[in-house]
Amino acid sequence: MRLRRITARRSSVHGKGLFALQPIAAGDRLIGYKGEVTSSRRAAASQQSENGHTFVFGLSDGRVIDGSRSGNSARFLNHACTPNCEAVEAGDRVFIHAVTAIKPGDELFIDYGLVVDGDVTEEVRKMYACHCGGSACRQSMLGETATSS
Ligand SMILES: [Zn+2]
Repeated sequence: MRLRRITARRSSVHGKGLFALQPIAAGDRLIGYKGEVTSSRRAAASQQSENGHTFVFGLSDGRVIDGSRSGNSARFLNHACTPNCEAVEAGDRVFIHAVTAIKPGDELFIDYGLVVDGDVTEEVRKMYACHCGGSACRQSMLGETATSS
């Protein structure tokens, strides 16, 4: 039997977070990002009630995985501008892999690199402000190329 390697618990960054229970090596696959695959518009609407916690994961084809619907604990992954995990797309599925060695007790982070529909106004920037506190923090959970197309 494999030991449970990660768990969700209260995070100092935002709401709940995912934490390592065991030492994790760079490159390890940790968890799949489960949820309903849907159009981004629908997910954005259902997200309104989630109090700023982002439970949707954008796929490269424009759809999203909505972790607030049939999701697992991967939805609790918080954003950091210098993350220790990354999301790897495989068809309709997304897996979270470690990019660095992670110690037990460390919180797991990915770079959300969020892309929003429409203009990135001050209000939008504020809504997705980053509080990761890293030295390379860009003060936003939005991706570098988060411009409307
Ligand atoms: Zn940051």
